[in-house]
Amino acid sequence: MSDPDVIVLGGGVSGLAAAWWVARAGYAVELWERDARLGGKIATRRADGYLTERAASMLLNFRPEVSELLAATGLDAKRIACPSGPQYQRYLVRGGRLMPVPMRMGALMRSPLWSLRGKLRVLAEPLVPAGGSPDETVSEFVVRRLGREVLETAMEPFIAGPLASDADRASAHAVLPRLVALEQRYGSLVIGAVVRRLLRRGAAPVREMFSFDGGMATLIGALATTAGVRFRARSTALRVERTASGWRVDGRTPEGEQSARARHLVLSVPAPAAAALVRPLDAELGGLLGGIDYGALAVVHLAFDRSAIRHRLDGLGFLAPRSEGVPLTGCQWMSSMFASRAPRDKALLSCYVGGARAPHTRDWTDGRCIDAALTVVGPLLGIDAAPQRVWLDRHAAALPLYHGAYAGRLQAIGERLRRWPGLHVAANYAGGVSVRDRIACARALARRIDAALAGLRTPAAGVTLDSTPEAALAQGLG
Ligand SMILES: Cc1cc2nc3c(=O)[nH]c(=O)nc-3n(C[C@H](O)[C@H](O)[C@H](O)COP(=O)(O)OP(=O)(O)OC[C@H]3O[C@@H](n4cnc5c(N)ncnc54)[C@H](O)[C@@H]3O)c2cc1C
Repeated sequence: MSDPDVIVLGGGVSGLAAAWWVARAGYAVELWERDARLGGKIATRRADGYLTERAASMLLNFRPEVSELLAATGLDAKRIACPSGPQYQRYLVRGGRLMPVPMRMGALMRSPLWSLRGKLRVLAEPLVPAGGSPDETVSEFVVRRLGREVLETAMEPFIAGPLASDADRASAHAVLPRLVALEQRYGSLVIGAVVRRLLRRGAAPVREMFSFDGGMATLIGALATTAGVRFRARSTALRVERTASGWRVDGRTPEGEQSARARHLVLSVPAPAAAALVRPLDAELGGLLGGIDYGALAVVHLAFDRSAIRHRLDGLGFLAPRSEGVPLTGCQWMSSMFASRAPRDKALLSCYVGGARAPHTRDWTDGRCIDAALTVVGPLLGIDAAPQRVWLDRHAAALPLYHGAYAGRLQAIGERLRRWPGLHVAANYAGGVSVRDRIACARALARRIDAALAGLRTPAAGVTLDSTPEAALAQGLG
């Protein structure tokens, strides 16, 4: 069998998306995955008419790259949209009760979530001089621009929930690249947002929230059958080496110890695994990758009779700010988001326990995680009955935390990688953790590989796709 052009290590959505885009550009790809199953963190469980997700449960998309992939794979037809509209709420826990989060400026100014002082502070944002250091945390950035109330009631729970991170330690440049870019370009988030809206009038990207009929496994299944990719499950990369013409991977496979060679090698394994592979080659790069922290999460799925829950469940679910002192970062009302997730007259809730805010929960027993979820959601949603079914998914290393001087770390990783032509990283510790960002970053990487393999001049970082710092970082790291 002839050598592939590109080897991808890791069969999570990052590696699968990278393989898909590279194969689409016409190159032969070999993908090694340690587990028997492709998908990495993402896995869908079906039981007794319920559908639960181990990690990603939906895509929030506004990137054309994602739309292109969905159209080309036929996944468009399998999409199911999450309901939207003013009656469809997002909630925040405030003083032990659920309060709707206003999604429009007018409603926001009338909302009891913020004091008059907090609202005036937001209105004064354009008067705040631009500034801040590259190492600024999310908390420092948001307090400086918008005030403490916005941090505590709006931003902190969004950093703790979807990112499992800690606003006091997460890098603003890495986690809020679009907001940081607005300040850098327009001197103000409010003015920047208004200018952007006016400039884009009619051409604003459409934001869509959706999953698939068969859950996120449908996406993985489509990517896992990409033509032009040789998938090697149960194949663990143990060593990577530079050769005269590219890269060699040695590892354990069902056929015994095996090697593979290619001009380009993409590391789509989590940062600790990438660190272990590159350390013998480049101790500094290994140290930079090995220094990336991950947060632990337990996902507790609870199934109830719909009639046992007094709350209307008229929305996505809720997030819990740190000030509420609960071990949950939030809860998604899966059966409200996608009706097919539970049988008729049943409700399915997925609760997220832990994250960087509550690292002690990493050592909790399964029973304690489930009890914690029940203790929080019971009073908030008016639930009297015991759940009829419970499933638990635990992730010791759920998500990279983007803590500390993260933009500097990514830049240093990019600089080290430039010493190793043909070596790339494409994983959720660079360029965003969402499935959307994984697909978009993979496209930027494939373009760089295509340019290199086609003998063209490699495009300079930051010009290939767009000018968002996320894309620039992704390209720099490609
Ligand atoms: C609880 C939770 C909920 C989430 N919800 C959402 C959501 O609703 N929407 C969204 O967009 N995102 C969500 N995310 C984020 C998203 O699911 C992840 O960021 C993404 O799935 C990570 O993909 P990855 O490929 O980078 O990493 P992984 O999925 O971790 O894949 C890495 C792969 O590398 C393999 N591997 C490791 N070492 C080796 C080796 N030496 N050789 C070969 N293979 C190796 C592993 O087995 C694994 O399969 C969520 C994440 C979590 C944890």
